Amino acid sequence: MLSDYHIHSDFSGDCKVPMSEMIEKAIQLNLKRLCFTDHHDIDFPHPSINFVLDIPSYINEFHHLKDKYSNQIELLIGIELGMQPHLHNTLSTIVNNNDFDFVLASNHLAKGLDVYEKIYFENHSQYLGYLKYFEDILGNVKSYTDYDVYSHLDYVIRYGDFKNKVLAYNDFKDILDEILSTIIKNGKGIEVNTSGYNYKLDNPHPSRKILTHYKKLGGEIITLGSDAHSPHNLIEHFDLAKELLKSIGFKYHCTYVQRTPEFHKL
Ligand SMILES: [Zn+2]
Ligand SMILES: [Zn+2]
Repeated sequence: MLSDYHIHSDFSGDCKVPMSEMIEKAIQLNLKRLCFTDHHDIDFPHPSINFVLDIPSYINEFHHLKDKYSNQIELLIGIELGMQPHLHNTLSTIVNNNDFDFVLASNHLAKGLDVYEKIYFENHSQYLGYLKYFEDILGNVKSYTDYDVYSHLDYVIRYGDFKNKVLAYNDFKDILDEILSTIIKNGKGIEVNTSGYNYKLDNPHPSRKILTHYKKLGGEIITLGSDAHSPHNLIEHFDLAKELLKSIGFKYHCTYVQRTPEFHKL
């Protein structure tokens, strides 16, 4: 099943590509399923970029295109929720009032701060910068369950000007194991986000070590997403990611329709 379950369109504040262009490219690449997961980051600390999704327009345009391309590709509608502790109720309401096929939970912030901003790692050591990010994720997975898959679990390691960005699992073992166990216990999954390969990490998000522990702890649900903000990034590095997953012992990846996972051989 060739599919991509993390992509953006111009409904996201950081993407200029219309949905139709992403779809045309996906058809060229022979994808069977394509799932839009545009950003919905409420209370994002940059007033200059609007990461709040116009959900009614997004869903309208999606259904128009789903019909138009129904003979060529199966289109799915998802959302990438920017998680913050004070937003849980608001986000639950959004998920429960809309008919999404797939819901990604994401952290782009730690303690309300944008980890992408240089100042974040100027004010934090590498260890504390990573730890605060994981503390937020742990808080989210413990008290919020209206999502399907937690995306790019170690996104924070992209940033910060460090020689060795990939984290040592043992430095964060307790908190990462607790995050992964909670996700598994709640019947949720994680994604392999292949954009990590574009940040000279030599790994997807999350890195091999986290994926290995997820497997050891009993994790089975994995989706594959490119996080494409441009057509040429669709399904980028999926071959590498599938080989990595197989080498760890995973046999399946998932797609979602109507919030229900379907398992496909890797
Ligand atoms: Zn994201
Ligand atoms: Zn994304």
